[in-house]
Amino acid sequence: MERFQYTRARTVPEAIGIAAQSTTAQQSAPIRFVAGGTTLVDLMKLDVERPTRLVDINHLGLNAIERTADGGLKVGALVRNSALAQDPAVMRDYRVLSEALLSGASAQLRNVATTSGNLLQRTRCMYFRNTAMACNKREPGSGCSAIGGENRTLAILGTSSQCIATNPSDMNVALAALEATVHLQGTKGTRAIAFQDFHLLPGDTPNRETVLEPGDLVTHVTLPPPRSGTTSRYLKLRDRASYEFALASAAVVVEVAGGRFRYVRLAMGGIGTKPWRMTAAEQALTGAPVDEATIRQAATLALRDARPQSQNGFKVELATRCLAHALRLATGMASV
Ligand code: SF4
Repeated sequence: MERFQYTRARTVPEAIGIAAQSTTAQQSAPIRFVAGGTTLVDLMKLDVERPTRLVDINHLGLNAIERTADGGLKVGALVRNSALAQDPAVMRDYRVLSEALLSGASAQLRNVATTSGNLLQRTRCMYFRNTAMACNKREPGSGCSAIGGENRTLAILGTSSQCIATNPSDMNVALAALEATVHLQGTKGTRAIAFQDFHLLPGDTPNRETVLEPGDLVTHVTLPPPRSGTTSRYLKLRDRASYEFALASAAVVVEVAGGRFRYVRLAMGGIGTKPWRMTAAEQALTGAPVDEATIRQAATLALRDARPQSQNGFKVELATRCLAHALRLATGMASV
Protein backbone atom coordinates (compact mmCIF):
# COMPACT_ATOMS: atom_id res chain seq x y z
CA MET A 1 0.00 0.00 0.00
CA GLU A 2 1.32 3.46 -0.86
CA ARG A 3 1.45 6.41 1.53
CA PHE A 4 -1.58 8.72 1.53
CA GLN A 5 -2.91 11.73 3.39
CA TYR A 6 -5.97 11.37 5.61
CA THR A 7 -8.44 14.23 6.13
CA ARG A 8 -11.58 14.09 8.25
CA ALA A 9 -14.19 16.34 6.62
CA ARG A 10 -16.53 18.22 8.98
CA THR A 11 -19.06 19.50 6.43
CA VAL A 12 -20.38 18.45 3.04
CA PRO A 13 -18.98 21.58 1.28
CA GLU A 14 -15.56 20.93 2.82
CA ALA A 15 -15.56 17.33 1.60
CA ILE A 16 -16.66 18.37 -1.89
CA GLY A 17 -14.06 21.14 -2.04
CA ILE A 18 -11.23 18.75 -1.27
CA ALA A 19 -12.41 16.05 -3.66
CA ALA A 20 -12.93 18.56 -6.48
CA GLN A 21 -9.17 18.92 -6.61
CA SER A 22 -9.13 15.50 -8.27
CA THR A 23 -8.60 15.58 -12.00
CA THR A 24 -11.15 12.82 -12.50
CA ALA A 25 -13.77 11.03 -10.45
CA GLN A 26 -12.80 7.70 -11.96
CA GLN A 27 -10.42 4.91 -11.06
CA SER A 28 -7.14 6.80 -11.35
CA ALA A 29 -8.33 9.70 -9.18
CA PRO A 30 -5.84 10.53 -6.44
CA ILE A 31 -8.47 11.75 -3.95
CA ARG A 32 -11.13 9.43 -2.60
CA PHE A 33 -14.01 9.67 -0.14
CA VAL A 34 -13.94 6.93 2.47
CA ALA A 35 -16.78 5.83 4.76
CA GLY A 36 -17.01 2.11 5.65
CA GLY A 37 -13.97 1.39 3.50
CA THR A 38 -15.08 -2.18 2.80
CA THR A 39 -14.31 -1.89 -0.91
CA LEU A 40 -11.79 0.94 -1.03
CA VAL A 41 -9.37 -0.23 1.65
CA ASP A 42 -9.52 -3.74 0.20
CA LEU A 43 -8.49 -2.40 -3.20
CA MET A 44 -5.79 -0.18 -1.70
CA LYS A 45 -4.20 -3.25 -0.12
CA LEU A 46 -4.20 -4.89 -3.55
CA ASP A 47 -2.61 -1.79 -5.11
CA VAL A 48 -5.62 -1.43 -7.42
CA GLU A 49 -6.62 1.87 -5.81
CA ARG A 50 -3.75 4.26 -5.12
CA PRO A 51 -5.23 7.47 -3.73
CA THR A 52 -2.89 10.18 -2.54
CA ARG A 53 -5.55 11.46 -0.17
CA LEU A 54 -8.53 9.99 1.64
CA VAL A 55 -11.37 12.24 2.76
CA ASP A 56 -13.23 10.65 5.67
CA ILE A 57 -16.95 11.46 5.30
CA ASN A 58 -18.18 9.51 8.33
CA HIS A 59 -18.89 12.68 10.30
CA LEU A 60 -21.10 14.51 7.80
CA GLY A 61 -24.37 13.48 9.45
CA LEU A 62 -25.73 11.71 6.37
CA ASN A 63 -26.96 8.72 8.34
CA ALA A 64 -30.72 9.15 8.76
CA ILE A 65 -33.65 7.21 7.31
CA GLU A 66 -36.62 9.57 7.01
CA ARG A 67 -40.06 9.71 5.44
CA THR A 68 -40.34 12.15 2.55
CA ALA A 69 -43.26 14.56 2.16
CA ASP A 70 -44.83 12.34 -0.51
CA GLY A 71 -44.66 9.22 1.69
CA GLY A 72 -41.47 7.81 0.19
CA LEU A 73 -38.21 7.20 2.01
CA LYS A 74 -34.99 9.21 2.17
CA VAL A 75 -31.91 7.12 2.95
CA GLY A 76 -28.74 8.97 3.95
CA ALA A 77 -25.54 8.06 2.13
CA LEU A 78 -23.92 6.89 5.36
CA VAL A 79 -26.74 4.64 6.56
CA ARG A 80 -25.10 1.28 7.22
CA ASN A 81 -26.37 -1.68 5.22
CA SER A 82 -27.43 -3.56 8.37
CA ALA A 83 -29.42 -0.56 9.66
CA LEU A 84 -31.17 -0.14 6.32
CA ALA A 85 -32.01 -3.83 6.02
CA GLN A 86 -33.53 -3.88 9.50
CA ASP A 87 -35.34 -0.55 9.38
CA PRO A 88 -39.06 -1.22 10.13
CA ALA A 89 -40.29 0.91 7.22
CA VAL A 90 -37.94 -0.86 4.79
CA MET A 91 -38.95 -4.30 6.05
CA ARG A 92 -42.64 -3.41 5.77
CA ASP A 93 -42.79 -1.32 2.58
CA TYR A 94 -39.66 -2.26 0.59
CA ARG A 95 -39.09 -5.92 1.43
CA VAL A 96 -37.06 -6.47 -1.73
CA LEU A 97 -34.45 -4.00 -0.47
CA SER A 98 -34.18 -5.61 2.95
CA GLU A 99 -33.83 -9.07 1.40
CA ALA A 100 -31.21 -7.88 -1.08
CA LEU A 101 -29.10 -6.24 1.62
CA LEU A 102 -29.27 -9.26 3.91
CA SER A 103 -28.17 -11.54 1.06
CA GLY A 104 -24.95 -9.57 0.57
CA ALA A 105 -21.56 -9.91 2.26
CA SER A 106 -21.38 -10.90 5.94
CA ALA A 107 -23.02 -9.46 9.07
CA GLN A 108 -19.72 -7.80 10.02
CA LEU A 109 -19.34 -6.13 6.61
CA ARG A 110 -22.98 -5.01 6.56
CA ASN A 111 -22.43 -3.30 9.92
CA VAL A 112 -19.87 -0.91 8.41
CA ALA A 113 -20.70 -0.80 4.69
CA THR A 114 -22.75 2.24 3.70
CA THR A 115 -25.53 2.97 1.24
CA SER A 116 -23.31 5.14 -0.97
CA GLY A 117 -20.42 2.69 -0.76
CA ASN A 118 -22.68 -0.14 -1.86
CA LEU A 119 -23.92 2.04 -4.69
CA LEU A 120 -20.32 2.46 -5.88
CA GLN A 121 -19.15 -1.10 -5.21
CA ARG A 122 -16.43 -2.16 -7.68
CA THR A 123 -16.53 -5.35 -9.72
CA ARG A 124 -15.23 -8.67 -8.42
CA CYS A 125 -13.64 -9.56 -11.77
CA MET A 126 -10.46 -11.40 -10.70
CA TYR A 127 -8.34 -9.61 -13.29
CA PHE A 128 -9.44 -6.20 -12.07
CA ARG A 129 -8.14 -7.14 -8.63
CA ASN A 130 -4.79 -8.46 -9.94
CA THR A 131 -2.37 -5.74 -11.06
CA ALA A 132 -0.26 -8.29 -12.92
CA MET A 133 -3.08 -8.82 -15.45
CA ALA A 134 -4.36 -6.62 -18.27
CA CYS A 135 -7.60 -4.85 -17.40
CA ASN A 136 -9.19 -1.94 -19.25
CA LYS A 137 -11.21 -0.94 -16.22
CA ARG A 138 -8.14 -0.61 -14.01
CA GLU A 139 -5.78 0.60 -16.74
CA PRO A 140 -7.56 1.92 -19.86
CA GLY A 141 -6.16 0.54 -23.10
CA SER A 142 -4.32 -2.39 -21.50
CA GLY A 143 -6.79 -5.03 -22.70
CA CYS A 144 -9.33 -7.33 -21.10
CA SER A 145 -7.99 -10.59 -19.70
CA ALA A 146 -11.48 -11.91 -19.02
CA ILE A 147 -12.54 -12.05 -22.67
CA GLY A 148 -11.35 -15.53 -23.59
CA GLY A 149 -10.12 -16.01 -20.02
CA GLU A 150 -11.80 -16.94 -16.77
CA ASN A 151 -15.26 -15.44 -17.25
CA ARG A 152 -17.65 -17.94 -15.65
CA THR A 153 -18.99 -15.35 -13.18
CA LEU A 154 -19.02 -12.36 -15.54
CA ALA A 155 -21.71 -10.58 -17.53
CA ILE A 156 -23.97 -11.70 -20.35
CA LEU A 157 -25.82 -8.39 -20.76
CA GLY A 158 -24.42 -4.94 -21.49
CA THR A 159 -20.92 -6.17 -22.31
CA SER A 160 -18.53 -4.49 -24.75
CA SER A 161 -15.31 -5.50 -26.51
CA GLN A 162 -13.51 -3.65 -23.71
CA CYS A 163 -15.09 -5.12 -20.57
CA ILE A 164 -17.52 -7.84 -19.48
CA ALA A 165 -17.44 -7.29 -15.70
CA THR A 166 -20.61 -7.49 -13.62
CA ASN A 167 -21.83 -4.95 -11.12
CA PRO A 168 -21.58 -6.96 -7.88
CA SER A 169 -24.12 -5.17 -5.65
CA ASP A 170 -27.33 -6.82 -4.47
CA MET A 171 -28.67 -3.53 -3.09
CA ASN A 172 -28.38 -1.92 -6.51
CA VAL A 173 -30.66 -4.54 -8.07
CA ALA A 174 -33.38 -3.81 -5.54
CA LEU A 175 -32.97 -0.04 -6.00
CA ALA A 176 -33.35 -0.50 -9.77
CA ALA A 177 -36.64 -2.37 -9.34
CA LEU A 178 -37.86 0.21 -6.82
CA GLU A 179 -37.01 3.05 -9.24
CA ALA A 180 -34.91 4.89 -6.67
CA THR A 181 -33.31 8.28 -7.22
CA VAL A 182 -29.68 9.06 -6.36
CA HIS A 183 -29.02 12.55 -5.00
CA LEU A 184 -25.63 14.21 -5.47
CA GLN A 185 -24.03 17.39 -4.29
CA GLY A 186 -21.03 18.83 -6.11
CA THR A 187 -19.24 22.02 -6.95
CA LYS A 188 -22.10 23.03 -9.28
CA GLY A 189 -24.90 22.35 -6.79
CA THR A 190 -27.23 19.40 -6.30
CA ARG A 191 -28.47 16.85 -8.83
CA ALA A 192 -31.05 14.06 -8.72
CA ILE A 193 -30.30 11.08 -10.97
CA ALA A 194 -32.84 8.40 -11.83
CA PHE A 195 -31.34 5.10 -10.70
CA GLN A 196 -31.26 3.57 -14.17
CA ASP A 197 -29.12 6.49 -15.38
CA PHE A 198 -26.62 6.46 -12.51
CA HIS A 199 -24.46 3.51 -13.62
CA LEU A 200 -22.89 3.53 -17.08
CA LEU A 201 -22.38 0.73 -19.58
CA PRO A 202 -18.69 -0.11 -20.13
CA GLY A 203 -18.59 0.76 -23.85
CA ASP A 204 -15.11 2.04 -24.71
CA THR A 205 -14.58 3.53 -21.24
CA PRO A 206 -15.09 0.76 -18.66
CA ASN A 207 -13.05 2.80 -16.17
CA ARG A 208 -16.00 5.21 -16.00
CA GLU A 209 -18.69 3.42 -14.01
CA THR A 210 -21.12 6.15 -12.95
CA VAL A 211 -22.16 9.69 -13.85
CA LEU A 212 -20.21 11.09 -10.89
CA GLU A 213 -17.98 14.06 -11.70
CA PRO A 214 -14.92 15.21 -9.73
CA GLY A 215 -16.07 16.46 -6.33
CA ASP A 216 -19.53 14.88 -6.54
CA LEU A 217 -20.71 13.40 -3.25
CA VAL A 218 -23.71 11.09 -2.99
CA THR A 219 -25.76 12.60 -0.15
CA HIS A 220 -28.81 10.33 -0.14
CA VAL A 221 -31.08 7.99 -2.06
CA THR A 222 -34.85 8.38 -2.21
CA LEU A 223 -37.45 5.70 -2.77
CA PRO A 224 -40.88 6.50 -4.21
CA PRO A 225 -43.89 5.95 -1.94
CA PRO A 226 -44.78 2.27 -1.70
CA ARG A 227 -47.71 1.28 -3.94
CA SER A 228 -50.50 -0.27 -1.95
CA GLY A 229 -51.14 -3.85 -2.96
CA THR A 230 -47.64 -4.54 -4.23
CA THR A 231 -45.42 -7.39 -3.09
CA SER A 232 -41.67 -7.40 -3.56
CA ARG A 233 -39.04 -10.14 -3.30
CA TYR A 234 -35.34 -10.69 -3.97
CA LEU A 235 -33.95 -14.04 -5.06
CA LYS A 236 -30.20 -14.63 -5.28
CA LEU A 237 -28.54 -17.70 -6.79
CA ARG A 238 -24.85 -18.30 -6.05
CA ASP A 239 -22.18 -20.96 -5.70
CA ARG A 240 -22.55 -21.20 -1.92
CA ALA A 241 -25.25 -20.19 0.52
CA SER A 242 -23.60 -17.19 2.19
CA TYR A 243 -20.89 -14.57 1.77
CA GLU A 244 -20.86 -14.97 -2.01
CA PHE A 245 -21.72 -12.82 -5.01
CA ALA A 246 -24.66 -13.60 -7.28
CA LEU A 247 -24.40 -15.73 -10.39
CA ALA A 248 -27.92 -14.46 -11.04
CA SER A 249 -30.36 -12.56 -8.89
CA ALA A 250 -33.79 -11.04 -9.39
CA ALA A 251 -35.65 -8.18 -7.72
CA VAL A 252 -39.38 -8.26 -8.33
CA VAL A 253 -42.06 -5.72 -7.45
CA VAL A 254 -45.57 -6.76 -8.52
CA GLU A 255 -49.19 -5.95 -7.96
CA VAL A 256 -51.77 -8.56 -8.86
CA ALA A 257 -55.49 -7.83 -9.25
CA GLY A 258 -58.20 -10.10 -10.59
CA GLY A 259 -55.68 -12.81 -11.39
CA ARG A 260 -53.62 -10.53 -13.63
CA PHE A 261 -50.41 -8.55 -13.27
CA ARG A 262 -51.40 -4.92 -12.82
CA TYR A 263 -47.96 -3.44 -12.01
CA VAL A 264 -44.54 -5.02 -12.62
CA ARG A 265 -40.98 -3.82 -12.03
CA LEU A 266 -38.11 -6.25 -12.55
CA ALA A 267 -34.35 -5.97 -12.23
CA MET A 268 -31.56 -8.52 -12.24
CA GLY A 269 -28.03 -8.80 -10.89
CA GLY A 270 -25.06 -11.09 -11.48
CA ILE A 271 -25.60 -11.02 -15.23
CA GLY A 272 -25.28 -7.38 -16.31
CA THR A 273 -22.49 -4.84 -16.47
CA LYS A 274 -24.84 -2.59 -14.50
CA PRO A 275 -27.98 -3.31 -12.45
CA TRP A 276 -30.29 -4.53 -15.21
CA ARG A 277 -33.93 -3.53 -15.62
CA MET A 278 -36.01 -6.08 -17.52
CA THR A 279 -38.37 -3.67 -19.27
CA ALA A 280 -39.48 -6.00 -22.08
CA ALA A 281 -40.56 -8.61 -19.55
CA GLU A 282 -42.29 -5.93 -17.46
CA GLN A 283 -44.34 -4.91 -20.48
CA ALA A 284 -45.13 -8.50 -21.41
CA LEU A 285 -46.38 -9.27 -17.91
CA THR A 286 -48.47 -6.16 -17.34
CA GLY A 287 -52.10 -7.09 -17.90
CA ALA A 288 -51.29 -10.76 -18.48
CA PRO A 289 -52.73 -13.60 -16.38
CA VAL A 290 -50.72 -14.81 -13.41
CA ASP A 291 -49.90 -18.34 -14.46
CA GLU A 292 -46.92 -20.55 -15.12
CA ALA A 293 -46.94 -20.13 -18.90
CA THR A 294 -46.97 -16.33 -18.71
CA ILE A 295 -44.14 -16.27 -16.18
CA ARG A 296 -41.97 -18.64 -18.19
CA GLN A 297 -42.51 -16.68 -21.41
CA ALA A 298 -41.67 -13.39 -19.75
CA ALA A 299 -38.53 -14.77 -18.10
CA THR A 300 -37.35 -16.18 -21.42
CA LEU A 301 -38.04 -12.84 -23.10
CA ALA A 302 -36.03 -11.06 -20.40
CA LEU A 303 -32.85 -12.89 -21.42
CA ARG A 304 -33.30 -12.73 -25.18
CA ASP A 305 -30.45 -10.24 -25.62
CA ALA A 306 -27.95 -12.22 -23.56
CA ARG A 307 -24.50 -12.60 -25.12
CA PRO A 308 -22.62 -15.27 -23.15
CA GLN A 309 -18.83 -15.55 -23.04
CA SER A 310 -16.80 -18.76 -23.34
CA GLN A 311 -17.58 -20.03 -19.82
CA ASN A 312 -20.86 -18.44 -18.73
CA GLY A 313 -23.46 -19.73 -21.16
CA PHE A 314 -25.16 -21.49 -18.23
CA LYS A 315 -26.18 -18.10 -16.89
CA VAL A 316 -28.85 -17.67 -19.55
CA GLU A 317 -30.88 -20.61 -18.26
CA LEU A 318 -29.97 -19.90 -14.63
CA ALA A 319 -31.12 -16.29 -14.88
CA THR A 320 -34.31 -17.28 -16.69
CA ARG A 321 -35.17 -19.70 -13.90
CA CYS A 322 -34.15 -17.17 -11.25
CA LEU A 323 -36.49 -14.51 -12.60
CA ALA A 324 -39.33 -16.99 -13.07
CA HIS A 325 -39.02 -18.24 -9.51
CA ALA A 326 -38.80 -14.75 -8.05
CA LEU A 327 -42.08 -14.01 -9.82
CA ARG A 328 -43.61 -17.20 -8.37
CA LEU A 329 -42.50 -16.12 -4.89
CA ALA A 330 -43.90 -12.61 -5.28
CA THR A 331 -47.24 -13.83 -6.57
CA GLY A 332 -47.66 -16.62 -4.02
CA MET A 333 -47.30 -19.40 -6.62
CA ALA A 334 -44.32 -20.69 -4.57
CA SER A 335 -43.34 -20.24 -0.96
CA VAL A 336 -39.63 -21.15 -1.04
FE1 SF4 B 1 -10.97 -5.68 -16.50
FE2 SF4 B 1 -13.53 -5.61 -17.21
FE3 SF4 B 1 -11.90 -7.21 -18.51
FE4 SF4 B 1 -12.48 -7.74 -15.95
S1 SF4 B 1 -13.90 -7.77 -17.64
S2 SF4 B 1 -10.44 -7.83 -16.96
S3 SF4 B 1 -12.75 -5.68 -15.12
S4 SF4 B 1 -11.77 -4.98 -18.45
